[in-house]
Amino acid sequence: MLTFNQPFYSEEGMQCISEAIIKNRRLNGDGPFTEKCTKWFEDKLQKKNLLTTSCTHALEMAALLADIQPGDEIIMPSFTFVSTADAFVLRGARIKFVDIRNDTMNINENLIEQAITEKTKVIVPVHYAGVACEMDTIMDLAKSRNLLVVEDAAQGMMATYKGRYLGTIGDFGAYSFHETKNYTMGEGGLILVNRQEHVHRAEILREKGTNRSQYFRGEVDKYSWVDMGSSYLPSEMNAAYLWPQLKMADQINERRLRLWNLYYESLKDLAQKEYLELPYIPEECAHNAHMFYIKVRNLDERTALIEYLAQKGISAVFHYVPLHSSIAGRRWGTFIGKDKFTTKESERLLRLPMFYDLQERDVVNVVDAIERFYVK
Ligand SMILES: *Cc1c(COP(=O)(O)O)cnc(C)c1O
Repeated sequence: MLTFNQPFYSEEGMQCISEAIIKNRRLNGDGPFTEKCTKWFEDKLQKKNLLTTSCTHALEMAALLADIQPGDEIIMPSFTFVSTADAFVLRGARIKFVDIRNDTMNINENLIEQAITEKTKVIVPVHYAGVACEMDTIMDLAKSRNLLVVEDAAQGMMATYKGRYLGTIGDFGAYSFHETKNYTMGEGGLILVNRQEHVHRAEILREKGTNRSQYFRGEVDKYSWVDMGSSYLPSEMNAAYLWPQLKMADQINERRLRLWNLYYESLKDLAQKEYLELPYIPEECAHNAHMFYIKVRNLDERTALIEYLAQKGISAVFHYVPLHSSIAGRRWGTFIGKDKFTTKESERLLRLPMFYDLQERDVVNVVDAIERFYVK
C-alpha cells in the first residue's frame, strides 16, 4: 500500500535524541537542542521565535497575547483545521467565517471587510498547502481597521510571499511540526512573535506565567509567578529530532518540490482535457510542496476515485470538512456572506501521496492509476 504520508525518517534525528538523553542529560524543555533550533529560525527568519508543543498551542499563545476577551470576533476561513478556531474559542471568541477563493483555497481577501464589526479583533489567514494568502491586501485592511493578524502558517515553513517568509508578515505566525508536516518533531510547533512589544509576555506565557527565561539569562536573580500562563515548551527529545531536518531544510524543500512538479507535469494532460484541475500558485508565492492535491468534478467522482485508487494500493485522502458545517462550528461560529466555494471546492479536493521518501516511480504509478480511472 502506498501510504498518503510517511513521517520524516532520520538516523541523525535518532542520534540527536540519544545525545539529548545520554550526553546532555537534558530531557525537559529549552535545552541545547531547542536553543539550536531557535537560533536557526532566528537567523533564517530574522524574527523572535519560540518552539512550542504544537501549532495549536502556538495559536493559543497568539490568542492570549492578542488579549482576546469573551465576545471578541475573529475572522478566518471555514476551510481550515479545527485548531485555527479552537485557539480563539478557548478565549470565548466568536468565529466569523468568510468564503475562500476557488483558485488557491485560501481566504478571499476581498470578503474580509464585510465581516468586520466593532467587536472584530483578529484576522487569521491560513496559508493552505504552503501557498500564501494575499497578504498585502490583508495587512493593509488590518492596519486601517486596527486589527491584529495571526498567520496560521502550520503548512507554510520555507514558503514565501513576495520574498517574505510565511509567518513573519502578520503580528504573529504559527508553524506545525506534526508528523504530517514537511519538518517534524512528532508533535510540535513554533510561534513567531513579530512585534517587539509582545516578546516579553510570550516568554512568560510559555513558561507557566513565570519569568524563568529572564532568570536563565541572568536578568533577574530569582524567578516567580508574574502573569497567567501554561506549559507550551516541548521536550528536548522532540527538539533533537527536528534539529537535523533544519540543517537540511533546503534539501527537504527541493526534494518535495521535485516530486510536486513531477505530479504537476504528469497530470497536465488530464487537466487540459478538463477531467480535473491542478493547484494554482500565484506569481508572488513560492510554495513548499507541502501538499499535492487535484480537484475533480464533484463529490461522487471523488468518492469513486478514492475507492479506485485504494483498489490499486494507493491511499489518497480528502481534507477539511468546512468548520461552519460542523457541530462546534455552528455553536461558536457564523458564516458571513455566501458560501460560494468553501463547501463546493472542499468536496472536490483530493490529496495525493506526498512525503520526502516518496519515489518518482510512485508518482508515476499514482498518475497512471488516475489516467486509467478517467480514460477507461
Ligand atoms: C496541522 C495544522 C494545524 C495544527 O498543527 P498541530 O501542530 O498538530 O497542532 C493547524 N492549522 C493548520 C492549517 C494545520 O495544517
